[in-house]
Amino acid sequence: MEVIFDKKKQTGPLIIAGPCSVETPDQFLNTVSQLVDQGIGIIRGGIWKPRTRPGSFEGVGSIALPWVQEAKQQMDFKFATEVASSSHVEEALKYGVDIFWIGARSTVNPFTVQEIAESLKGTDIPVMIKNPVNADLSLWIGALERIQKAGIKDIALIHRGFSNFRDKVHRNSPLWQIPIEIQTHFPELMMINDPSHISGKRELVSIIAQKALDLNFDGLMIESHRSPDTAWSDAEQQLTPQALGHLLQKLKTRKVRF
Ligand code: PEP
Ligand code: MN
Repeated sequence: MEVIFDKKKQTGPLIIAGPCSVETPDQFLNTVSQLVDQGIGIIRGGIWKPRTRPGSFEGVGSIALPWVQEAKQQMDFKFATEVASSSHVEEALKYGVDIFWIGARSTVNPFTVQEIAESLKGTDIPVMIKNPVNADLSLWIGALERIQKAGIKDIALIHRGFSNFRDKVHRNSPLWQIPIEIQTHFPELMMINDPSHISGKRELVSIIAQKALDLNFDGLMIESHRSPDTAWSDAEQQLTPQALGHLLQKLKTRKVRF
């Protein structure tokens, strides 16, 4: 299987983009086709959504898997989604999902991470591990170690910021020193920044993204929806594919690896 998170072969920042949630076949297909036109090769989309409060949209669930499979027959892209249980892993594998990520609310729970790790054994699927919601280095490292012990080699880390009580600017405080310190322990792993969940508002996405590149992060995961204001989750922070294209052109990157 092709290695996705290969830091040595990287020539520029790895870009992952897509809607917070897969909502309908049409929303997904239309958003993805615009993103593929912008040159995006890895699409993200939440199918099972862990929400902090009950009553908000919790993802359409497994019915989205055939929609994704169908879209992949029409366009060339890899698809990444969040898994939070062994049944998510099993179902997503059946439908050829290419990349998994572990969300911030799962990384905090060693039982959950262990369950996911067990179900990954024997696969060689690439996995991204988001930082835990709280600023705890050991929990993040512990989740990484559990996934590594399951035999997964193609791994990246995602910095999505940390819960806070009174940060008026960010939805999740970036606390940049934490991903920077983690990188000193695991220099071989890609560190991907998620400016969408850090900022919580689209106006701030480009500033956070540029800061991450200035700090030599290896990639960006940015939420993009064909019609952000009508999105079923995270409406305030998503960009249209066109706005994302402009942002990517504007970003300055010093990163060239040989
Ligand atoms: C998401 O990526 O849409 C998401 C729910 O992320 P996080 O786990 O970072 O909150
Ligand atoms: Mn989201």
